[in-house]
Amino acid sequence: MNMAEKYVIGIDLGGTNIKGALLGFQGNIIEKYEIATLANAGPEVVANRIVQVAKILIKDLGDRVAGLGIGVPGQPDQSTGSVIFAPNLRWRNVPLIPMLKPSLGFPMFLENDANAAALGEKWCGAGRDAVNMVAITIGTGIGGGVIINGRLYRGSSGSAGEIGHTVVLPDGPQCNCGNRGCLETLTAAPALLRQAQIAIDRGRTTSLATVENLAARDVFKAAENGDGVALEIIGEMTHYLSLGLANLINILNPDLIVVGGGVSRAGELLFRPLREKTLACALPSAAQAVKIVPAQLGNDAGSIGAGAVVLQELDLL
Ligand SMILES: [Zn+2]
Repeated sequence: MNMAEKYVIGIDLGGTNIKGALLGFQGNIIEKYEIATLANAGPEVVANRIVQVAKILIKDLGDRVAGLGIGVPGQPDQSTGSVIFAPNLRWRNVPLIPMLKPSLGFPMFLENDANAAALGEKWCGAGRDAVNMVAITIGTGIGGGVIINGRLYRGSSGSAGEIGHTVVLPDGPQCNCGNRGCLETLTAAPALLRQAQIAIDRGRTTSLATVENLAARDVFKAAENGDGVALEIIGEMTHYLSLGLANLINILNPDLIVVGGGVSRAGELLFRPLREKTLACALPSAAQAVKIVPAQLGNDAGSIGAGAVVLQELDLL
């Protein structure tokens, strides 16, 4: 196979939008296309829209497409090509790949979106030189993907890397998973907003009180400007995040941890304290071996990662 003339398609299937990308074998984006998912219309409609995105990206390149990967916001079953559970799409046991097969002739693969994002960073992002790495994505929730010896590690039932649901505060805030005090409930965007609201309700002096439609980035912006409440919130967030990362480092001894998602765009305001606290907490030999860096793929992480899934499955990564 002449790799220079081959392409892969990556589909980032989200609850709101389907983002597709036609990619070269170096991870370079040739073309992008995005449409609404229309999840409410049901799996049949969503499958048709994936076909529509793929066909627009393929144009006349049909026989030069090595395959298509789909990152799903939930749990896929790679053996059947089904999505077992995807709460954002309200899907249970949807045979997605079999539904796409009649319309698209090339190999197709499913992967959990956080796992796909980790593979994407490994392929052409912050993890290019990593051997053992963990990529975590912090947004409205926390996702994680684990790469061991250069390959994605899915675990025994596909749920490896769920760092968001490791408990870092016993009896802490209630989590969607049914447990309490999960990392996600203390460090994802909603946690920052909850803390800000508590401070505002208590009448504390903070510039956050005057911001309309408060978002996580406003908390970071206020912290940058020296707002005491915002600095406290970031301090607490990095405290819990460092506990989660230190546990991960002690268990897996990775050479790299990549932190992505909206919250990670806060830059050194987040990364400096996060590195200090995490490395102080992890075992010295493991701490010395690991770097903690921001993700590089930004908004395209999902579709590039889905493309990387194709290369891994075809043993080309
Ligand atoms: Zn949880």
